[in-house]
Amino acid sequence: MGIHVHVRLSQGLSVSAEGELIEHSRCRCGATFTKEFDAEAGKPEGPAPS
Ligand SMILES: [Zn+2]
Repeated sequence: MGIHVHVRLSQGLSVSAEGELIEHSRCRCGATFTKEFDAEAGKPEGPAPS
């Protein structure tokens, strides 16, 4: 079979130890993907943890 374009079906979200948001996705072919979101970038204004 030829090359296909992976379809990223969302499997849910988790948060890493560093506080980054991780999106888990997988294609029906079995390939899996993770995408990290920088929590700092999307965080609304507020008191800094340190
Ligand atoms: Zn695929």
